[in-house]
Amino acid sequence: MPMPLTLYDNYARALRRFEPVKTGDRVGMYACGPTVYDYQHIGNYRTFLFEDTLRRVLEWNGYRVTHVMNVTDVGHLVSDADTGEDKMEKGARRTGKSAWEIAELYTDAFLEDLKLLNIEAPTILCRATDHIADQIAFITDIEKNGYTYRTSDGIYFDTSKQADYGHLARLDIEGLEAGKRVEVGEKRHPTDFALWKFSPAGEKRQMEWDSPWGRGFPGWHIECSAMAQRYLGDFFDIHCGGEDHIPVHHTNEIAQTEARVGTRLANFWMHGYFLLANDAKMAKSAGEFLRVGALVERGYDPLAYRYLCLTGHYRTQLNFTWDALDAAATGLARMRAGFHALAAADDASADEGLIGRFTAEVNDDLNAPRALALAWETLRGDAPDAVKRATLARFDEVFGLGLSAWRPREEEAPAAIEALARARADARVAKNWAEADRLRAQLRDAGWEIEDRAGGYALRRRG
Ligand code: AMP
Ligand code: ZN
Repeated sequence: MPMPLTLYDNYARALRRFEPVKTGDRVGMYACGPTVYDYQHIGNYRTFLFEDTLRRVLEWNGYRVTHVMNVTDVGHLVSDADTGEDKMEKGARRTGKSAWEIAELYTDAFLEDLKLLNIEAPTILCRATDHIADQIAFITDIEKNGYTYRTSDGIYFDTSKQADYGHLARLDIEGLEAGKRVEVGEKRHPTDFALWKFSPAGEKRQMEWDSPWGRGFPGWHIECSAMAQRYLGDFFDIHCGGEDHIPVHHTNEIAQTEARVGTRLANFWMHGYFLLANDAKMAKSAGEFLRVGALVERGYDPLAYRYLCLTGHYRTQLNFTWDALDAAATGLARMRAGFHALAAADDASADEGLIGRFTAEVNDDLNAPRALALAWETLRGDAPDAVKRATLARFDEVFGLGLSAWRPREEEAPAAIEALARARADARVAKNWAEADRLRAQLRDAGWEIEDRAGGYALRRRG
């Protein structure tokens, strides 16, 4: 009997048992991706790390995951109220490059950072600008179903047509209506949102397309509904993103999908909670933000940041401090060293009892902090070395800390050890294998391991 997987669904505001919506072991998961007008900051990566952990836990449970992620390269406006500039056009002005060039530049930078953080690349990475026809078809259907109206600057979704609009965020629609403090302009209701925006009269945008309503560009929310449906169908397993997406972006994705096909798009709506910096939200718009590259420049292994994220539950905010990162770096270094000190044995397998306890932790709404504590308990426990090693290697399929791949930095060996190593190398050149073996054994006794490499050898201290 497999252990149940329980996940927190923000739509139900409850922990729910996860079962795939389709029979079989296939799971569809959509994650809102980066807006590529700038680099992503480590806050963004906290959300992508949460999604990576979710995917790994699904895989741990035997599911085959189709992980779709979009790249927002058009239509995300500076303000959630559908006013202000497109972030891409603004980014282009800031950098003196074209909107298309910065989209490519920051998408590439994003993919590089994913590798540094050992985040598995999405199964499908899709760009909004490659799916304009899908978005137009989506809006056309919503229009046919009677949910849209036109203003002088675009086609809007009429949120008053849905009795349960805002359910995900538990929005207080009447309160919003009553206190219309925000400038709604020609919008009928404060919560209405743009599906298609017209290019401003007399202005040539860098990114614009023809549509049945006029030349312009799609709104940000429609891209996710359209691409999610294209790749995963009308109702799939899990949709995720950062907590900021709950009140507007995901609320509107659900509204559009209900208007088109009558579903809430995904069975589970899951959100990663924010990384804070000095107890305030870390945001690109706030000007200063930390990139993964900035951690590397300061000498940190990017996986120390991954370790730090694992120490907090994804549903609580995490305050970033350099002290916390230092502590994570120390934890990671100790875990790696501890792992490498364990002698391996080919025939050793993981401890089933520990694997069961680990499954219980990660299946309890991805409790990474408790799973990490179990890894420490395992390392310090009294199982045979090779069993501990095999068990931790399994855990690391979920942690993604690269424990097996890590190698200790080569230490400078004392002169006497170097002399032995050179003598062994000479013996090998002379094909005097017995002598080479004797010298290797002597090195081992002195606490050093020698590895033959192309064109030479390397010495490292035995764990
Ligand atoms: P963006 O590039 O702004 O579209 O954001 C990419 C992802 O990062 C989205 O899922 C956001 O919800 C998420 N995000 C933005 N800021 C933070 C933060 N400070 N902490 C965690 N996630 C964030
Ligand atoms: Zn999205």
